[in-house]
Parts: sequence; C-alpha cells; structure tokens
Amino acid sequence: MPPTITLEETKFQQEVNLGRVLLVEDEELIRETITFALMEEGYEVIVAEDGRKGLELVGKSPSRDLLSSDGLQFDLIILDLMLPYVNGLDLCRLVRHEGNSIPILMLSAKGTETDRVVGLEVGADDYLTKPFGMRELIARCRALLRRHRHSQLQTPDSALRFHDIVLYPQECRVTVRGEEINLSPKEFRILELFMSHPRRVWSRDQLIERIWGPDFMGDSKTVDVHIRWLREKLELDPSRPEYLLTVRGFGYRFG
Ligand code: CA
Repeated sequence: MPPTITLEETKFQQEVNLGRVLLVEDEELIRETITFALMEEGYEVIVAEDGRKGLELVGKSPSRDLLSSDGLQFDLIILDLMLPYVNGLDLCRLVRHEGNSIPILMLSAKGTETDRVVGLEVGADDYLTKPFGMRELIARCRALLRRHRHSQLQTPDSALRFHDIVLYPQECRVTVRGEEINLSPKEFRILELFMSHPRRVWSRDQLIERIWGPDFMGDSKTVDVHIRWLREKLELDPSRPEYLLTVRGFGYRFG
C-alpha cells in the first residue's frame, strides 16, 4: 500500500506553473522561506520535512518508478544535506540508483569542499551552502531546469533510429541492439548520411564526395572497404546484410 501522505497540507500551487519542485528541508523557517520564494516565481512546491517523507514522495519504494505515491512527477528536487531519518546524500544516491535523472540541488549548512564534492559525487547537479539568498537559489533552480529540459529535448529528438540501430549525432555514438559500438569517424559519418536518408541509393562517387570530399585522390574501392567494416559492426550476419544493402550497378542504400 502506498504511504499515507496528506498532500493537501503540503501542496501549494500558483496559476503560472513553471515546474513542480520537491523541497526536502527539516528547518521550518528555511522551508517556508524557500517555498514562498519559489511560489512567487511560479513554481509548484511540495515539501517534505524529513528524508523519509522525501523518499516516499519521490516514490523510492521497490515497485514504483519515478512517480510519487500520488502519481506526482517532479521537475526538480531541492535537498537539504542534514535531515532526520534519511540524510540528503543517501536520498540523492537512492534516487539516482533508480535511474532517475531529475535535477537535484543540494543545500548544506556545512560549506567544506569535501561536502560539495561528495554531494556532486552521489549525483547532485548543483550545491548551495547556507546561508544563501533567495535570488541565488532561484537562479540556480532556473538554470538546472533549463539545462535538464534542454537535454531532454535534444537527445530523443535528434537521435536517428532504424530498427535497433540508434545514432546520436551530437554525442558521436551509435548503439546496435542496445550495445554501444565503436566506429571510426569515417564510418560514423557514412552511417549518419545513410540513416539521414533511409532507402536512398548512393553511388560510390557520391559517397566519396560527401564523406571524403572532392579532393580525395584514392580509389572508389575505399568505399567498399568502409561499407564492409560497417557491416561487420552493424549486421548480425555481415555476409547477408539487412541494413547496408548493395544495389547492383548503382551503389549502396540503407534499409
Ligand atoms: Ca537540515
């Protein structure tokens, strides 16, 4: 059974909602000050006054994923380091252990470099030492949310997919059947070209022009060699390719 938490007591909402923040802080005054500042900015704030409650709210129980017990999803967690029951470091570690990439801003009364490093090591995205001004806090929250949303938008949208091959142009990375493969820069660029134009037939000369450039002095057999290497990395059976196909008399196509 989900833990019984009366969200009504802790939930505040404004008309403009810039995101839902979970604030885990045991000091009442700080909790209220931060809540007020965030609400003024247009954030929805859910508070937890200790680590255990924070954990319940992020849904860190065995059968649940990123949703909280009430089906709430958070955009940002502000986490105090020293908390009753479950401290901020453990909470952060547990959230990350679940594969949850939600931005986490850690707060601490201690200001040593070690705290900061440990905080970032367990997966916090940013770290703020008490006492801090509310404008500083808001600026950090904004930056974290912006960065996170940006990365969320970029990765899935720009990836090129074909069956079980995924190419991430910005990261210069390719996965095949879920496993990352190593490609040379030329192989990567050939595959990127093919995947950007599925089923289009490319002649060897066109591929040389696009990948090696017009000044390339070598032989068009170079293309065949690279296609063979790519097949060895992509295809289940390179002698019977399913992705990189030969179009007799013309060249190659993908898919
Ligand atoms: Ca505290």
